[in-house]
Amino acid sequence: MVQFADSPQEAAFRDEVRAFIKESYEPLRVAIRDEGKASGGYAETPSKRKWLSTLSDKGWIAPAWPVEYGGAGMGVMEQFIYNEEMAESGATRPSGITVGFIGPTIITLGTDAQKQEHLPPILKAETVWCQGYSEPGSGSDLASLQTRGVKDGDDWVINGQKIWTSGAHVSDYMVMLARTDPDAPKHKGITYFIVDMHAPGVEVRPLVNMAKTHEFNEVYFEDVRVPSRNVLGEVNRGWYGAVTTLDFERSSIGSAVGMGKGVQTLIRHAQESAESGVSQLGHRAGLRIELADRYLESQIARMISYRIVTMQAQGLIPNYEASMGKLYAMELNQRIASTAMHVFGLHGQLWTDQEGAPRGGLYNYDYMRTVANTIEGGTSEIQRNIIAGRGLGLPRS
Ligand SMILES: Cc1cc2nc3c(=O)[nH]c(=O)nc-3n(C[C@H](O)[C@H](O)[C@H](O)COP(=O)(O)OP(=O)(O)OC[C@H]3O[C@@H](n4cnc5c(N)ncnc54)[C@H](O)[C@@H]3O)c2cc1C
Repeated sequence: MVQFADSPQEAAFRDEVRAFIKESYEPLRVAIRDEGKASGGYAETPSKRKWLSTLSDKGWIAPAWPVEYGGAGMGVMEQFIYNEEMAESGATRPSGITVGFIGPTIITLGTDAQKQEHLPPILKAETVWCQGYSEPGSGSDLASLQTRGVKDGDDWVINGQKIWTSGAHVSDYMVMLARTDPDAPKHKGITYFIVDMHAPGVEVRPLVNMAKTHEFNEVYFEDVRVPSRNVLGEVNRGWYGAVTTLDFERSSIGSAVGMGKGVQTLIRHAQESAESGVSQLGHRAGLRIELADRYLESQIARMISYRIVTMQAQGLIPNYEASMGKLYAMELNQRIASTAMHVFGLHGQLWTDQEGAPRGGLYNYDYMRTVANTIEGGTSEIQRNIIAGRGLGLPRS
């Protein structure tokens, strides 16, 4: 029988995670929030550094990585409990890009030297990475990318531009794709590189999103020299490595455990306001049905996440399953943000710096920020194409 209640061991682990957060995160919570406000949490601030060091000392930077690579090697249920409690508390997480999908890519594709150089600093939260795929003319049709890599002695020389690069302004390294054989078919002439973001010729220019935070950037490359030892995988076969990263990315974006907690918070608010008699939220027919739908959907998202984490625990890389998780969770995230607006009404529209804003203004922030959820990591249309093709075996349209 499938059992969703915690076993005694799981309950003990949940208590351990909660106690750790209470002891180590709570004293820093306000400082981390205030210091990181303008950056959407991207900036490395003193309080955030202190918290990440504590998390690293505990060995909990990369709960899903195998122990042999310094991860916590947590089982499926432990990962869920860890993720759930971190989401419930709103605790700052290490860079999801770095730990969630670039680290696993290095584990899968990297040489021994690359693993030795890059995995330990990631596990100490000392390095942050970004992903340089998208270009002004290449997003969904990524294989049309134009950034060039030309061999010169033992180096490659990179010229071109990336866009929408999340966290580039705080990153030490980028994994990036460049065209290294312009005469080959478009998927076959691409190489995957590790680029030092502090190398001469790399220029990062900020882009501010409509939620008013600086998360992503344009990145320009002018004669940037990258040593051959920084090729990730094989020359001209970078496309296949990049797809592996995308599978990891969609698996980690699709992890929906926090959403159920978010929905339960909204339900609690509707219940309490109905009981207090101040407002009749819990009695409003439309809202009752909307909250019931969000509750049901958050359970479905959880089931999809179980499937993905179970595959990862078996050493498999979820493919169309990851697209299912990403698609469902991200569209649901937008619906939850919209329901929160219905629950809080005009108050929900107050910004993070305005007095009386519920949840410190984060409902308004979420409403604005979640618009991007169905674009980042591959649009919903692209996820549906992957599910139809690779998952359902349907021919291309
Ligand atoms: C918040 C955020 C963070 C991001 N971070 C990064 C990052 O760190 N690194 C990075 O490399 N990129 C990043 N991106 C870029 C993201 O991957 C692209 O925006 C995305 O892949 C879509 O590409 P595009 O913007 O060029 O849109 P396009 O590909 O031009 O798509 C435009 C529209 O056409 C639709 N469309 C395109 N092709 C098809 C098709 N074959 N079938 C059906 N519909 C189609 C799309 O679904 C979309 O609605 C980020 C984007 C956002 C919003």
